[in-house]
Amino acid sequence: MSINLAFDRDHIWHPYTSMLTPLPVYPVASAEGCELVLENGQRLIDGTASWWSAVHGYNHPELNAAVSNQLGKMAHVMFGGITHQPAVTLCQQLLAMVPANLTKVFLADSGSIAVEVAIKMALQYWLASDTPQKQKLISLRKGYHGDTFAAMAVCDPVDGMHDMFANLLPQHFFLPAPQSRFDGDFQPEDIEALQNLLAEQHHDIAALILEPIVQGYGGMRFYHPEYLRRARALCDQYQVLLIADEIATGFGRTGKLFACEHAGIQPDIMCVGKALSGGYITLAATLCTDEVARGISLSAAGGLMHGPTFMANPLACAVASASLNLISQGHWQQQVAQIEAQLKQELAPCRASVLVKDVRVLGAIGVLEMHSKVDVAALQQQFVELGVWIRPFNNLIYIMPPFIITPAQLSKLTGAMRTVVNV
Ligand SMILES: *Cc1c(COP(=O)(O)O)cnc(C)c1O
Repeated sequence: MSINLAFDRDHIWHPYTSMLTPLPVYPVASAEGCELVLENGQRLIDGTASWWSAVHGYNHPELNAAVSNQLGKMAHVMFGGITHQPAVTLCQQLLAMVPANLTKVFLADSGSIAVEVAIKMALQYWLASDTPQKQKLISLRKGYHGDTFAAMAVCDPVDGMHDMFANLLPQHFFLPAPQSRFDGDFQPEDIEALQNLLAEQHHDIAALILEPIVQGYGGMRFYHPEYLRRARALCDQYQVLLIADEIATGFGRTGKLFACEHAGIQPDIMCVGKALSGGYITLAATLCTDEVARGISLSAAGGLMHGPTFMANPLACAVASASLNLISQGHWQQQVAQIEAQLKQELAPCRASVLVKDVRVLGAIGVLEMHSKVDVAALQQQFVELGVWIRPFNNLIYIMPPFIITPAQLSKLTGAMRTVVNV
């Protein structure tokens, strides 16, 4: 029996779609390694890692085994008043990887929720202090932090997909996106807006939230580590918490285990998600320092006021734990370095295209920024015809493939990108 595409079109929402003029969807029957297998048998090389998550590829024997083994014990049990081995093991592994000042873990059910929890942590922390008026956030233009309401309120207010809700959202402070490129010189003016805002308003500010080094869905921009270092120093100077949203960047994607490491800084609160479970099951986490956890626990509520039904789902924890085992073996370092070198070489010719404004590569991320918005449906179809799965948006054609991709598979992706920009 084939997948009923007419039913899908008439009744099922896909991400950011219309029910009146839905874009085509492609029926995937299975996936293996770096390939998606369509229902008609066609194989596509995957350039997305299913939105940054499937870093070890699909249908991985060790990850599969982790899920099946756990399934034989229990699929789920509540986390209120109960704990279990998959959660404890996962959190031990996670704490051994993240910046050393982070010591407490909240297991959340998606990236957006991890951001909600991070914001709640920051607000609760200051509520319990002698400066409870510190309740505003600062974030960066071109930032993206998720689709729930607190997260939407810190996404780019104009380009962040959520501008229609502006009147319903808490009003925070937005700074210009950093202009100093990752691979260029640091321009000290870049940090002035943050400096000025903190000097004037720090009494009201709880936290600065940002995506370290890579601004993802707000524009796929890579900025200079010095910005992050100076932001950290200013947060310390003005007693403002620093929240690092590593949901897209975490677990090796940028060439470091966490993007904060490019700047050698430690955030007070950090969100991880996407690659955490190797792309298997939705799972995210918010980590914080002893000091933040202590403050929250001293607040009037007596604890962190969050606790989802499926918190610390054992299947998700077990597969995340297996994924972190693979990460700990360290092969990602060489894989990502190789992907970076190959992307730099094979995407460079795109600079000659009249359609292309900029070409950027960092770690296992390759980006073509176009002069104008692309026709997503038409381009998607062209990519499928070329045997690849690449999902452009706005004016960006970009890839972040599984780390296990072979040079030949990667060449197929970059070749398709060159084809669509006519070089
Ligand atoms: C994807 C993403 C989120 C949201 O995660 P979901 O799991 O989609 O809710 C938040 N922040 C960043 C930086 C992301 O890339």
